[in-house]
Amino acid sequence: MPDSTDDLPLCTACGKCCHLLVELTPLLDDVPEEYVVEHDGVRCMDQHGDGACVALDSATQLCTIYERRPKVCRDFQRGESLCRRAVLGKRGSLAAPRASL
Ligand code: SF4
Ligand code: SF4
Repeated sequence: MPDSTDDLPLCTACGKCCHLLVELTPLLDDVPEEYVVEHDGVRCMDQHGDGACVALDSATQLCTIYERRPKVCRDFQRGESLCRRAVLGKRGSLAAPRASL
């Protein structure tokens, strides 16, 4: 019987998941402040013009703040729908859970 994960694409280290908009989780994420930008009141990782996260090393495609990377980056799984969309070049965002007021 085929393994249920057989259809997962291998991570190609394409770096495209680091070109998605990354929302920061309030009271949890502790990334360098100079990498943060606010969109409509939501704190996010800043991006270069091509969408690359400012913490992404363009030469190695590795995260330069790996130990402090946001929760949504830690939770991101290879082969999940956003990975598949990213590999296909579609846009998306990694949204942090919103605090209930
Ligand atoms: S988008 Fe998917 S395949 Fe590309 S680096 Fe991220 S996890 Fe790997
Ligand atoms: S913080 Fe690191 S893992 Fe998250 S999108 Fe930026 S470069 Fe990628």
